[in-house]
Amino acid sequence: MTDLLLRDALLLDVHTGDYQEADLRCAEGRIAEIGDRLRAPDSVPVLELAGAVVLPGLIDGHVHVTAATADLPAMTSWSPSYVAAHSARIMGEMLDRGFTTVRDACGADYGLADAQAEGLIRGPRLAFCGRALTQTGGHGDTRGRGDQFLDNHPCRTGMGRVADGVDAVRAAARDELRKGAHHIKVHASGGVASPTDRVDSTQYSAEELRAIVEEADAASRYVAAHAYTARAVNRALENGVRSIEHGNLIDDRSVELFVEHKAFLVPTLVTYWALKNEGRDHGLPESSWRKVDDVLNAGLGGLERAARGGVKLVYGTDLLGDMHRHQNREFRIRREVQRPIDIIQAATVNAAELLGLAGEIGTLQAGAHADLIVLDADPLADIDVLAEPAHITRVLQAGRIVR
Ligand SMILES: [Zn+2]
Repeated sequence: MTDLLLRDALLLDVHTGDYQEADLRCAEGRIAEIGDRLRAPDSVPVLELAGAVVLPGLIDGHVHVTAATADLPAMTSWSPSYVAAHSARIMGEMLDRGFTTVRDACGADYGLADAQAEGLIRGPRLAFCGRALTQTGGHGDTRGRGDQFLDNHPCRTGMGRVADGVDAVRAAARDELRKGAHHIKVHASGGVASPTDRVDSTQYSAEELRAIVEEADAASRYVAAHAYTARAVNRALENGVRSIEHGNLIDDRSVELFVEHKAFLVPTLVTYWALKNEGRDHGLPESSWRKVDDVLNAGLGGLERAARGGVKLVYGTDLLGDMHRHQNREFRIRREVQRPIDIIQAATVNAAELLGLAGEIGTLQAGAHADLIVLDADPLADIDVLAEPAHITRVLQAGRIVR
C-alpha cells in the first residue's frame, strides 16, 4: 500500500521558499495531487499534520555508504559480504536522518543499488559510481610507501581503481559504465585519507581527464572530480568535469569557470569537522589526521566565495565510519555563510538537478516520487531544525512511512 493522504500540512515550495497550507495525496509511490480538502477512498490512510512542516526528502550529494571505517586502507582486506552488511546498516541510518536519496562518491555498486530498489535493504535511493579512477600514488591508491604489489582485483573490497595513461583510463571508465555507474568519479587532486599524496598535488594529466570525460559523455553520464585546490579544480573544470567534490581552496577564477560550464560544487565541510574532532578515535591514521587542518580552515571561505558568485551548490558530507551520525550537521555549518532556503535547495532541487532527476525527487510537485520528511518546527526560521534528526518526526519514501 503506497497510497496515503497528508492533511493540513505546511508544504514548503523549495524553489521559492514559500509555504502553502494544503493536503497532499500520494498514489503508487508518487505525489498524485496537492490542494485543499482533497478526497481519497476510505481505504486510504490519512495522516493529520496540522502545524507540521513537510519538505521533500533530503538528498546527500556526497556519501560513501560502504565506508564502515575511517581506516580505508584497512578496509581493503575486509570481506565484501561483511562490508555489504555494514553498508545496509549505514544506509538505513541515513534514511532515518531524512535522506531519501544519496549519491555515492565511490565504493557502492549495482549490488547495493539493486538491493535497495528491490526492498531487500532499507535505505536511500542510491546513485552510485562504482570505483573511483585514480592514478598511481593518487588519492584512491591505498598502498603505503612500502607496498609494491597492486591488487586491483574487482572482488577485493575497495573504493578506487588505479589506472594510468589515456588507454587505461578509457578502459576503466568504460568498465564502470558497463557496471551501471550513474557518474564517473575521478581523483584530480591529493586528499586527506590517502597515505602517500599531498593535498596540493594535481592528479591525472589533462589528456587523461579529457579521455575520461569523453567516455562519460558518450554514455550520457558525467564526471565528478575530487579536487581541493584552485589549481586542481580549475583544470578539472576546463577539461569538462561537471561536479567538483570538496573544492575547499577555490579562487575567483574557479567561480567563473563553474558558472561558465554550469558545473556544480559539492562541499563536504562536516567531514573535516568530524575528522578533526574524532578521526583518530575512529581509525584515521595519524598521517591523514595531520592534513585535516589545511582543508578545514579554507572550506567555509570557499563555500562563501562560491555562494556569492552564483555557483550551483549541492549538499555533501563525505563522512566515514562511526562519524556518519553527523550527517545533518552540514546544515549547521553552512548556516555561517548561507540562508536557510539556500542550504535546503542544495539538499533538494540542486542535488536533483545534478543527479539528472529534476522534477522526480527533491521537490513537492505532482508526478514526483513521494519522498517526504515531516518536521515539528520551521527550518526557514532556524536551519538547525534540519541539523537535529530529532525534529524529523516522519520519513516517507515512495509514499510509504519508513520512519
Ligand atoms: Zn568522498
